[in-house]
Amino acid sequence: MQMRTEVAVIGAGLAGLIAARELIAVGKQVALLEARDRVGGRTWTVPFADTGLSVDLGAEWIIPAAHSAMVDELERYDLPLESPDGSKDLVATVPQDIHADYQRLLDYVNTDAAHINPKTNDWYRSVAHLDQPFLDYLGARSECDAAKDLLLADGFALHGADPGRYSTINLLHDVAAFGGAKEAFQADEQRVGGGAQSLSLAIAKPLASELRLNWLAQRITQTLEGVEISGPNGTFLAQAVIIALPVNVLSSLKLDFYMENAARHVIQEKHPGAAAKGWASVSCPEPIHSSGWPDAVEVYSRQGARTSAIATFAVAHPSHEAALQNSWRTVRSRHPKVQWHNDFLSHDWLNDPLAQGTWLSAAPGQHEGLHQLADNPPPIIFAGGDVSRRWYGWMEGAITSGLDSAQRIQAYLTQAPVSPAAG
Ligand SMILES: Cc1cc2nc3c(=O)[nH]c(=O)nc-3n(C[C@H](O)[C@H](O)[C@H](O)COP(=O)(O)OP(=O)(O)OC[C@H]3O[C@@H](n4cnc5c(N)ncnc54)[C@H](O)[C@@H]3O)c2cc1C
Repeated sequence: MQMRTEVAVIGAGLAGLIAARELIAVGKQVALLEARDRVGGRTWTVPFADTGLSVDLGAEWIIPAAHSAMVDELERYDLPLESPDGSKDLVATVPQDIHADYQRLLDYVNTDAAHINPKTNDWYRSVAHLDQPFLDYLGARSECDAAKDLLLADGFALHGADPGRYSTINLLHDVAAFGGAKEAFQADEQRVGGGAQSLSLAIAKPLASELRLNWLAQRITQTLEGVEISGPNGTFLAQAVIIALPVNVLSSLKLDFYMENAARHVIQEKHPGAAAKGWASVSCPEPIHSSGWPDAVEVYSRQGARTSAIATFAVAHPSHEAALQNSWRTVRSRHPKVQWHNDFLSHDWLNDPLAQGTWLSAAPGQHEGLHQLADNPPPIIFAGGDVSRRWYGWMEGAITSGLDSAQRIQAYLTQAPVSPAAG
């Protein structure tokens, strides 16, 4: 059976939820189609063992000083922010000789990032000569390996991928967006009290009649009558569509409409964002925050009502599980006073068919395609944290992209000029 709607929004992560909310607010008829049995996508908060805590298996941190759209959303739904346990000044703990080399590396990064205006859509063109794997960029420097390892850990915390695969210009973009390397790497992070998914749940609450869970989109076809979205649950015919899906799942869909070549290419190639994040239930006498390279790149603890939880991150190589096992071994030797309760929790986002990766980290050559995806003209446009023109890879980018996509579709439906993607 074919159903009709003015706008179909595919994907009920932050971007799709925000886009749907904004369009409904201006009187549009919306169908919000989500393949999972829950909203939130890569924000997913679950209770963890006997800690008394709810932990984020996906996104967790925001930087309130820079992420203003996220702060606005949290205020709108009366959701609090929470500070991390313990201090994060990790650089202060490294020996002085490494410190000097590390500072020199930060200076290089700052000098190169100064070529970028992160508020322009085609910012990547100004640093095309540096669109190379971050490992190659570092390899050309004479500073000591220990200082380079510090920067590799910093880079991973932001870009969540193998530095042999992600482009240096991702890192330069974030440094420019945060206003400097120190500001980017040692930003004052906060988490959403109650977990990041609580924002998605709050946005979804009044959208119950538009939201269809367990609705997998498999094919999107532009026809003379409109756009057809079909899957095992049926077909929608829409006047316009917002595809708010992770870039890495797009190659699993049949996309029967015009797209530029570089956009098609990035869909086929996929981005290399591949982080393994895991939680363990522990007892630890004081808050933990440490970093290292290549295992247990970032480690932090949270004090629960009953016991604590400790999180670790690493490049998900050779697999999510193997990376976490290596990380836990490293955490055990780095923090010998921790007592382990043998309760572990994580989600393998790489093998999750509805994510197929973690957060966006472009490989060399992929930014043109991401730009083209973001700018695909109505009636079929793309939105999401992965294609954000402002804060790609972040929840902030999902929100700004969701807001922007709703405005562009609203302009299209009212036959007003549609501006280039800017969210
Ligand atoms: C482990 C991890 C840690 C992270 N840490 C942070 C962090 O600390 N701070 C931060 O800001 N960001 C972080 N991120 C990134 C952040 O989660 C994302 O950028 C953001 O949530 C993306 O939102 P989105 O709406 O664009 O996409 P998603 O949240 O992925 O939403 C897309 C939705 O589409 C659905 N879907 C997929 N395929 C189909 C289909 N065929 N049909 C219908 N529906 C479909 C999915 O189920 C999903 O619900 C992290 C991500 C991960 C995985």
